[in-house]
Amino acid sequence: MITNETIFFTQIVSIVGFLVTLFWLYRLLVEQKDATIQLQRANIAFLNDKLVDAKLQSPDVLAQSLAGRVKLFEEELMRLEHDKSSTAQQITAKEAELTCARTEAEALTKKIIHARELLRDYLCPHCGAPLVEKVYHSEPVEYQGRELDIDHDCSTFDCGYEIVDGLERHPCKVQCRSETQNNGRLV
Ligand SMILES: [Zn+2]
Repeated sequence: MITNETIFFTQIVSIVGFLVTLFWLYRLLVEQKDATIQLQRANIAFLNDKLVDAKLQSPDVLAQSLAGRVKLFEEELMRLEHDKSSTAQQITAKEAELTCARTEAEALTKKIIHARELLRDYLCPHCGAPLVEKVYHSEPVEYQGRELDIDHDCSTFDCGYEIVDGLERHPCKVQCRSETQNNGRLV
C-alpha cells in the first residue's frame, strides 16, 4: 500500500536528483569554460612573447598596435571570466580572433627580420637606430712630393654612432647608456 509518506519521499528524491543533475551540468560547463580560459591565457602569453620580439626588432608603430590588441584580448578575457553568462560561442569567437592576431604577429616578426637583413648597412649595429647621413669625401694629402686624394666614407646614425672608413669614430649613445645602467646595477 502506498502511503502519503511514500509519495512525499519519492517526490523529495526526484527533486534532489533533479538538483544534483543540474548542479553537475553546471560544473561541467564551468570546467569547460575554465579550460578554454586557460587556453586563452596560453595564447596571450605566446602573443606577448611575439610582441617582445617585435619590439626588439623595432618598428614601434606595428608593435604598439599589437600591444593594443593584446590588451584588448586581456580585457575581454577578464570580462569572460567574470561574466558567468558568457557562452561557448563567444569564447570560440574570441579564440578565432586570438589565432588571427597570433598569425599576424608571426608574419610581422618574419617581415621585420627580413627587412633588417636587407637594411643592415642602414641601421646602427648596436641599437638599430636608422642611418641619418652617409657622405663620401676626398681628402687631398701630400705623399712624397705628390698630391693624392684619399676617399673617405662616413656613416652617421640617429643614436650618435659614427663610422669612418669602417672604423668607429663616435660610440652608440644607446649602447653606452645601457652599459652604464648595467654597471650601476652591478655595483
Ligand atoms: Zn646605436
